[in-house]
Formats: sequence, C-alpha cells, structure tokens
Amino acid sequence: MEDCLLGYTPEELTAYLQALGEKPFRAKQLYDWLHKGVEFDEMSNLPNGLRERLKQSDVAIGVSIIKTLVSQKDGTEKYLFSLRDGNVVEGVLMRYNYGNTLCISSQVGCRMGCAFCASTLEGRVRDMTAGEMLGEVVAVNRLHAQGDKRGVTNIVMMGSGEPLDNYDNVVRFLRLVSAPKGINISLRNVSVSTCGLADRIDDLAEENLPITLSISLHAPTDEARRRIMPIANKYSIERLMKACRDYVDKVGRRIVFEYALIEGVNTSLDDADRLAALTRGLLCHINLIPLNDVPERDLRAPGQKGIDAFQKRLESLHVSVTRRREMGADIEGACGQLRRKHLSTEEK
Ligand code: SAH
Repeated sequence: MEDCLLGYTPEELTAYLQALGEKPFRAKQLYDWLHKGVEFDEMSNLPNGLRERLKQSDVAIGVSIIKTLVSQKDGTEKYLFSLRDGNVVEGVLMRYNYGNTLCISSQVGCRMGCAFCASTLEGRVRDMTAGEMLGEVVAVNRLHAQGDKRGVTNIVMMGSGEPLDNYDNVVRFLRLVSAPKGINISLRNVSVSTCGLADRIDDLAEENLPITLSISLHAPTDEARRRIMPIANKYSIERLMKACRDYVDKVGRRIVFEYALIEGVNTSLDDADRLAALTRGLLCHINLIPLNDVPERDLRAPGQKGIDAFQKRLESLHVSVTRRREMGADIEGACGQLRRKHLSTEEK
C-alpha cells in the first residue's frame, strides 16, 4: 500500500516536492506540519495552489481517531483509529508519573494465532505502513500536546499485530519516530514486543537500535508454549533464547520477558523454577501479566494467591520480576477487544 506523506523521510519529501516543481524549503514546512498531525487545509504557510494540488493527489495523514474511551479509574484512554481503506485498529494511552505511554498497533489483525489473544481471532488483514504507525502517534499528540501539556513520551508496540512480521515498515517507523526534527521520541522510550520470531530478532540485533525488546514468552517449556502459541512450533525455546542472548551481546540492552499467567497452563511453581533457570545469567527482566480473560477461548487468569506464589518463587530465586499494573480495566483496555466489539456491532 502506498504510504501517506507522513511516512516520508525529509529527503523523500524534498524529492517529491521537487518533482512538482517546488522549492526545497517547502519540504521542511510540509514535514513540520505532518509531524504535528496537521491536514493540508490547515498548513497555513503553504500556498493555496500547492495545498489544493497535494490534496488532490495525496494523503497527508492516513489515520484518524473515530472513537475515544476514557477510564474513570485512572485516566487511561483507548482509541479506535480508522485507516483510509476503512480498516480500524486500536491504541491505548496510559498516564504514568514519568510520562504518557501510547500502545500502538502494527498490523490490522494478526496471523500469529496465540490462543489467548483477541487480535488474532480473525487473522491478519494487512500490514500497516510506517506512516500509519506514525499517524497513531501524531493523532494522539494532536489531542493532548497543546500548550504546556505533554503528548506521547513513550511508545509500546503491543497493540494488534506482530511487529516483526511487518519488519521493514516497523524499522522504518522506528527511525522516523525518533528523528530529532520530527516527533523526536527517543528509542530508549520505545518497546517492541514480539511473540518470538527468532530469525527476525537476529536481524533486529544487526540494526543496533536502543529500543527495549520485549519477548512474549508465556511458557517455560516447548510443550506448554505450543499449547498456546503456534509460533513455538517454528522456533523452540532453545532457539529463541539463543536469539535473545545474541541480541543482548550485540545491543547491550536488557530484554523484558512477558509472561501471562494462565490457569492450568503455566502457573505451577515448577514452571517458575524453569523460567528462572531459562533466564539465569541473561540481562533481563520478567513482567508477569495476569491474563485478561478471553471468554471465546475459555482461558483465565489464576487467582490472586496463585499469582503471588508464582512471583514470590521467582523472587526467591533472585529473578528480576514485577507484575504489570492493570490499567483501563473499565474501557476494554485489553488486547484487541475494542476493535472486535466495533466490528461485531458493524456487522449487525
Ligand atoms: N505480537 C506482539 C505484540 C502484541 S501483544 C507480541 O506477541 O508480543 C502484546 C502483549 O499482550 C503480548 O505479550 C501478548 O502476548 C499479550 N497478550 C495478548 N492477549 C493477552 C491477554 N488476553 N491477556 C494478557 N496478555 C495478553
């Protein structure tokens, strides 16, 4: 899919405008507007004629917010983003003391098939472009970064989609979103979460980007992992952990392992022991997530006691571990649920 102009680098915008017979300084003006999330009509320092011409042949920003839900509990906001082909994806803005973290989507749907994840239930519809991923960020910035209010300061790629299954667009997005003259979010404030495409993790290590790599591990044995994550049939845990060790060796940054606790699947104390053994000696942290129930698949989180016991066992083994704070529980905060609801009401 052809990208919107927001997905262009400054050099590409210059070449594009030059081909239209425009001077190079126009590219800088256009770039600044695009990164503020502004549509052609409002680009007040561009001549009318140019604006009209751009409007006829191109799209400035290929994303708009069509629905916002605000949590009464913690101020978390959930957005439904519409793409220009009518597809929708979702994002979540979480407010912390240190800043505002936006969770964005990287694909419409997902083809990874994890048993607990709502984003994958209808498969992958298409990859998102780099400009569309940027579009999620600038749309939210437009809502919030006014006056002295802070916009998005941190990004987690944990919305719908498997980022490393859309590798080129995601790496391009990472470069664009961290460009000092653009949105300028430091890659140290960006997390990329993957279900574990080991070959792509090897590729990513070569890019040597200072992002935080999150691995959705969710089980300490191949057998348990294969029950919930089809990708485990392609890459064994041994292969995945090798990619992680190589990654840390090359990039020198700590990896975060995501571990969703699912009753009857991965919550025994033996599982905790195995998890500790797997990650021993690696520069990493474990993030425990109580599963957001998925009624469609009959999977549930364990009770509070089970979660505490699992965490304590890891701590007793000197594992660096925390539990993910649950936010936006009253606004379909979890993983793909808002889009599903939107799609199912549309069908009626
Ligand atoms: N495809 C990427 C990123 C998207 S999912 C990945 O697999 O990492 C972001 C995180 O939410 C992943 O750790 C994923 O496993 C987790 N997740 C998905 N559904 C969940 C659910 N119902 N409860 C808790 N975590 C879930």
